[in-house]
Amino acid sequence: MFSALVAGGCVSEKQAQDDFKYSDERFADLQMLRYKVEGFETLSLKQKTFIYYLQEAALWGRDILWDQNGRYNLRIRKVLEDIYQQYDGDRENKEFLGLETYLKRTWFSNGIHHHYGCEKFVPEFSEKWFREVVNEQLTIDDEAIDLDELCHVIFNPDVLQKRVNLAEGVDLIQTSASNYYEGVSQAEAEEFYAKQKAEGDTLHPVMYGMNSRLVKDANGRIYEKRWTTNGLYGKALQKVVENLKLARPFAEDAKQQEVIDKLISYYETGDLKTFDQYSIAWVENTQPLVDFVNGFIECYGDPLGLKCSWESIVNFKDMEATKRTETLSQNAQWFEDHSPVDAAFKKDKVKGITAKVINAAILAGDLYPSTAIGINLPNSDWVRKDHGSKSVTIGNLTDAYNKAAKGNGFTDEFVYSQEEKDLIEQYGDLCDDLHTDLHECLGHGSGKLLEGVDGDSLKAYGSTIEEARADLFALYYLPDQKLVDLGLTPNKEAYKSSYYVQMMNGMMTQLVRIQPGNNIEEAHMRNRALIARWSFERGKAENVCEMVKRDGKTFLKINDYEKLRTIFGELLAEIQRIKSTGDFKAAQALVENYGVKIDPALHQEVLDRYQKLNIAPYKGFINPVYTAVKDSKGNITDVKIDYTEGYADQMLRYSRDYSVLPLVNE
Ligand code: ZN
Repeated sequence: MFSALVAGGCVSEKQAQDDFKYSDERFADLQMLRYKVEGFETLSLKQKTFIYYLQEAALWGRDILWDQNGRYNLRIRKVLEDIYQQYDGDRENKEFLGLETYLKRTWFSNGIHHHYGCEKFVPEFSEKWFREVVNEQLTIDDEAIDLDELCHVIFNPDVLQKRVNLAEGVDLIQTSASNYYEGVSQAEAEEFYAKQKAEGDTLHPVMYGMNSRLVKDANGRIYEKRWTTNGLYGKALQKVVENLKLARPFAEDAKQQEVIDKLISYYETGDLKTFDQYSIAWVENTQPLVDFVNGFIECYGDPLGLKCSWESIVNFKDMEATKRTETLSQNAQWFEDHSPVDAAFKKDKVKGITAKVINAAILAGDLYPSTAIGINLPNSDWVRKDHGSKSVTIGNLTDAYNKAAKGNGFTDEFVYSQEEKDLIEQYGDLCDDLHTDLHECLGHGSGKLLEGVDGDSLKAYGSTIEEARADLFALYYLPDQKLVDLGLTPNKEAYKSSYYVQMMNGMMTQLVRIQPGNNIEEAHMRNRALIARWSFERGKAENVCEMVKRDGKTFLKINDYEKLRTIFGELLAEIQRIKSTGDFKAAQALVENYGVKIDPALHQEVLDRYQKLNIAPYKGFINPVYTAVKDSKGNITDVKIDYTEGYADQMLRYSRDYSVLPLVNE
């Protein structure tokens, strides 16, 4: 699982050291940032070459995600990009500018639905103008493009409204626009996979359905179309594999070559047991400096949480910052033993948690341009239990967010008083990093399912509960004397900055990401709301926290930090019980009661105040460009890195140089 960024963020004290441009272009609700690949120049030629081929393998997967996010996405992108590049009318007119923004948003989301809220974009250009331009200025010779059909999808607000629908009481598959199922109902899909599970290995279950589209044909037969080098998305996966093969000789050790071999074998066969073997080899390969994720990983795009979206990140260790998380890992058992969770749900032996801080070298698929700041993989429950997991914090991305947020006025507007502001100023960055480390290194890896409990029992609530579990583990331990003893926090005050930010965010400020009238949908956001509101209510009688009105503005005030810690501990124990026993009803009640609904008056107030700050609520990254310098024999003699490519140029280049999939993938 990849952990997302906390909304809003706190301001870093660190000065931008040089003229590197951390923040770039803005449009709609988005801001583009850049990250520095710190230390790339100091790598050996072999390591640089390895990274070069791995980032090629990463970029070749892009169109897979576009098609996974919606069956019309590749076609729409093609037409929009053609107009964007060929339009010979006034490029400053409202219609063209509307199309430009729509295209930029579509690039950002890898499709026509919002990357976070999942709602379909409302175009700010007219259908009439769009049709005229396409008919008069474009020569579209691709049979796949049916203008009427595309207009229906783009302009009719009732068509394919949401990419992922998690609303209660409807067929989640048929009301979701993501392209993971075709012609099947939710009940049919659930039955299909329940049967696979019942017939499969219960001790070491594969992640059923993770690498295929589930399809019902004209005769009513339901079957999987697998994503393999000779199946669905084959052409793109062949290019991924080709570059993995080129990378292989430059891998850092024989074990890492084995990891690549298993990944290739899995891409070629689609065999999920091979995928588990690959995951085990990958999680156990902890020595190399350079590492990568490349595959079908995240299940947030499927309302049933089975199908995995394609993504890739290439990275290498940040040795200095890694010391911090290694300290946590070495003490993992202490944290497990002392957590407020029922002993029956604890791991006797927490093992294999490797923790490190990495620098991202490339982001791709579902990690681009919007990305995560931490990684905890693999996702398979039994692989995690038997072989551990790899947890990383992505240092150069966190750093870029902090630098870009400096001085944006957010803290001044929403934080209650100077006392909290000082705490955040002094300890905010440190505790943010530590919170992420605890979440990724210890939180996700802690606890166990009771014997015989199905890891998917919590269904649509599973992701929210899992994120809440990891966050609460972090929150519970931040104030602990143990962290002071380990030298990770300077004193017993620092954690308050994190408590304040977490509660403020969950109670109110994360609402800046949501349109008026909508519910909270995204798992990480539901988790934050759930934790904050449940804890707020729990401490109400003792006035642990309160919402204070001042000059017509609402502020969160925390009166008793120590008591709040106890409450977080109680909720952690309950959430772990829900996960360990697979208590679907309790998960549903918690999430629906605390994680979903929004008070419309508070929501509007937060939006109004936020709007005045003029901050983009979502951020994403432009990748650096890698160029291989080759000798006359084609051997790479150096790899250059460049940070000057613009957002649109990058997207157009990717579409031009890394597209092999047909516009319709069936
Ligand atoms: Zn997480």
